Amino acid sequence: MSIDSALPLYDDSQLSRVLCVAAHPDDLEYGTSAAVARWTARGVHVSYLLLTAGEAGMRSRDPEEAGPLRAAEQRRACALVGVDDLLILDLPDGTLQADTETRRHISRRIREVRPDLVVTQPWELHVPWGLNHADHRTAGIATLDAVRDADNPWVFRELLEQEHLEPWAATELMVVGAEPATHLIDVGGAPLEQGIASLEAHEEYLAELGGAVDVRSMLESSTADVAAASDVDGLTHALGATVHRMA
Ligand SMILES: [Zn+2]
Repeated sequence: MSIDSALPLYDDSQLSRVLCVAAHPDDLEYGTSAAVARWTARGVHVSYLLLTAGEAGMRSRDPEEAGPLRAAEQRRACALVGVDDLLILDLPDGTLQADTETRRHISRRIREVRPDLVVTQPWELHVPWGLNHADHRTAGIATLDAVRDADNPWVFRELLEQEHLEPWAATELMVVGAEPATHLIDVGGAPLEQGIASLEAHEEYLAELGGAVDVRSMLESSTADVAAASDVDGLTHALGATVHRMA
């Protein structure tokens, strides 16, 4: 991705709670989980919400088999970066919609977790690695909308009236991998190692891709390239992220 050399480091010193929302198991392990490892090491509580079990992601395996397998791999991936709060919904993999049902699910989780920061996927059609997947676009845009829904007492009133979930205003929305990046996250050292291990935890899923992904070299080189483009002294590995102020 193209990085402005003057981008500042993201200030995570005041973070308390973070909610990461993505479409599928493994989506958060292509960089985001290294940032998560950095945050959990600093005592930040990080929750994951996956909108689908990724049951349609393995060509050789029936969804009934793939869904539980991928969920188990995701639990292992989470444990490796200090995340024990994982919720996987059963929305349909491959045909995820940014409709009111999906937005209500995400809003509910935001009101439950009460995060300072919500992290999600790029919703643009074009992303630095090519054409963005339908479910990834959907997860990103639905999460953006749900951040606002969660703070509006008159949207999804049943969340308050029936589930007693008070409106919640997340302060920031972060999109990892979107361009243009506004901030860098230093993931050098242990966070990167944990991030690599968390992607490697998707063992059966990666094997299904035919060994085409060299996880370590992919994550090491992509984060080294971002760091190399930056003027920040001593930065060896970093992620680029777009941070939007929401409240
Ligand atoms: Zn995905």
